[in-house]
Amino acid sequence: MNATQVLVLNSGSSSLKYQLLDMPEGRRLATGLVERIGEEGPGRLVHTPAEGERRERELPLPDHAAALRAAGDELAADGLGLDSPGLAAVGHRVVHGGRTFTEPTVVDERVLAEIERLVPLAPLHNPANLAGIRTALAINPDVPQVAVFDTAFHTTIPDHAACYAIDAEVAAEHRVRRYGFHGTSHAFVSRRTAELLGRRPEEVNVITLHLGNGASAAAVAGGRCVDTSMGLTPLQGLVMGTRSGDIDPAVVFHLSRVAGMSVAEIDELLNSHSGLRGLCGDNDMREVVRRMDAGDERARLAFDVYIHRLRSYLGAYFAVLGRVDAVAFTAGVGENATRVRTAAVAGLDALGLAVDERLNTAADRGPRLISPEYARVAVAVVPTDEELEIATQAFALVNA
Ligand code: ADP
Repeated sequence: MNATQVLVLNSGSSSLKYQLLDMPEGRRLATGLVERIGEEGPGRLVHTPAEGERRERELPLPDHAAALRAAGDELAADGLGLDSPGLAAVGHRVVHGGRTFTEPTVVDERVLAEIERLVPLAPLHNPANLAGIRTALAINPDVPQVAVFDTAFHTTIPDHAACYAIDAEVAAEHRVRRYGFHGTSHAFVSRRTAELLGRRPEEVNVITLHLGNGASAAAVAGGRCVDTSMGLTPLQGLVMGTRSGDIDPAVVFHLSRVAGMSVAEIDELLNSHSGLRGLCGDNDMREVVRRMDAGDERARLAFDVYIHRLRSYLGAYFAVLGRVDAVAFTAGVGENATRVRTAAVAGLDALGLAVDERLNTAADRGPRLISPEYARVAVAVVPTDEELEIATQAFALVNA
């Protein structure tokens, strides 16, 4: 029997998301979420097979190993699973690959050690990703484990866009530079946008706007990323649900000196109590728009700050790319918030940008163009699918 299935794992600090896909079509065989790993009280598992009823249960989940075993049991009950001969690979989302990992990589001891060495750059994420890989290896050492890095697509960004203008020795010693994140999504969406235009990725320049809870923009020239808005960490760039994005770095010193806040408190403020939530109390764009329409001034300001930042990056990336063929919106806000898309390009005819409101508000779900035919630059909505992209990359690697 040909092994055609790929299990995609996304391990967070207290959660594990999984999807089993049949390749190369990318058909979903099962999806699941395991939550409250390592927390007090019971954990929770929700498993949804492609055929059959969704199953939910509570169970003890002391660690990631227990979580993955529980997911494996659910898959096995559907005749699938971690030791099934149909399994070609396990694809792991790994947040930080530093400058080392420019491509998906089959995991061995050396790779594990390098992901470990990158932990200081992603202290919350890489340890959880490592736990997922180690557990999957222990359960089935014979199936290839492929690490797919959030940073990999951005490793083509040239130094002039990746270097911060700080003391070069300090930067080098502590690996301080722009790495960028959401790379799997920017890669997938920029390629799909080229397909939508009927062109090859090498032929087009695309600005991809991944607007979810976290948000980032990327400038992609002929299939290669040349700039992105996130930096050393996912805190830089666009206004997000709860993250500030760009601020004057001296805000940190000011809050330390004047407000007496600790580094940990400022970290928490900028990551969890800023962005839309910081500005108006709500981090969900649906709620922000609803309140704005009801006349709420704080929600209006939050929306306007969000849009102003987005437009600033859009303009910047026109200058970075020189020629832009398409702007693509993706992720929760980008795929659904028609108002954000309208406001992002309003009045930018001089850049060749326009949105056809009939297309923008159509109930369509698939990849689609929303710009009028006369527009010089295509505006697209392209649903992202990071799991499919991870499975595609992992499957291609083990079959190479
Ligand atoms: P994550 O970054 O957690 O993967 P998603 O890409 O799923 O996030 O995006 C989540 C966000 O998408 C939500 O916080 C919400 O603000 C936004 N969103 C989802 N649906 C809509 C909608 N219909 N209109 C506006 N915003 C939406």
